Amino acid sequence: MAVMFSIIAPIYNELDNLGELTRRVREVMLPLRDTWELLLVDDGSTDGSTDRIRELAKKDKHIRPVIFSRNFGHQVAITAGWDYARGDAIIIIDADLQDPPEIIPELIAKWKAGFEVVYAVRTEREGDSWFKRTTAALFYRVIYRITDVKIPVDTGDFRLMDRKVVDVLKNMPERHRFPRGMSSWVGFRQVGIPYKRAARFAGVTKYPFKKMLKLALNAITGFSYFPLQLATYFGFGSAGLAIIAIPVVIIMRLVGKGAFLGQATTLLAVLFLGGVQLVSLGVLGEYLGRIYDEVKGRPLYIVREGPVK
Ligand code: UDP
Ligand code: MG
Repeated sequence: MAVMFSIIAPIYNELDNLGELTRRVREVMLPLRDTWELLLVDDGSTDGSTDRIRELAKKDKHIRPVIFSRNFGHQVAITAGWDYARGDAIIIIDADLQDPPEIIPELIAKWKAGFEVVYAVRTEREGDSWFKRTTAALFYRVIYRITDVKIPVDTGDFRLMDRKVVDVLKNMPERHRFPRGMSSWVGFRQVGIPYKRAARFAGVTKYPFKKMLKLALNAITGFSYFPLQLATYFGFGSAGLAIIAIPVVIIMRLVGKGAFLGQATTLLAVLFLGGVQLVSLGVLGEYLGRIYDEVKGRPLYIVREGPVK
């Protein structure tokens, strides 16, 4: 049976990684003797990656460039890859070689054994800072606890998905995307394989703290109502407290022990409740803004130059 593999690499200013990435992918894929393509999705690079991608594509027909009109974000670049991929199995890989292409045959072996989603689980992280490792570990665990879908921990976007799965994902047009969550949500037969996440080959991370926070918010709001329900819990909590406190205060007053003097108590109560209310409003705002974005229905990404789909 002749099969075809599509490998998707999102690229944002990865000039010094492109040569090595394409070389290592080629080295892994050629011996397999199957058809394959490497989709390089240029997510608005400004460092010359775009020209380098064009050059590489001219030299090797396996490489198909998709060039965005501006930076739309990693998640959206992956989505564009899904839209353009023609393979029977689709593999997502980071362009900075933190996800070693040498693992691809292991992903393919599991796919051939009948699994429809094969995700790679990071058992070790090389080269990431203490801060990155800690926040990432925390991120995966919080998401796991509060979302309704069981999204495997320590698992990034590095994975193989069957054509069936990608066809389902292509019909999920949500704007604030969390692809790894979406690929857990769809179900199918899934399996994880362990791998050691390497250090970046070249360049620096394109995920500063602000972007990580945004991704975490998208993951949480996309897969859970828990933050919305927090207001209800707080409401019941403070109402319950009041119900206990009211008779206590009245009785103390009646028996002549006029307790709770002073403005400090009042001020603290007002500040605390005011804070809780504002945070709850903010949470509502997060969901509302996302609903607004969905309703506008703008395209997810704009392609300046792309291959024929
Ligand atoms: N990336 C992208 N658009 C962005 C940010 C990142 O396409 O706005 C790509 C980036 O080029 C890389 C992958 O997403 O191939 C993962 O990014 P990075 O390695 O910077 O993240 P980290 O591994 O540090 O979490
Ligand atoms: Mg990286």
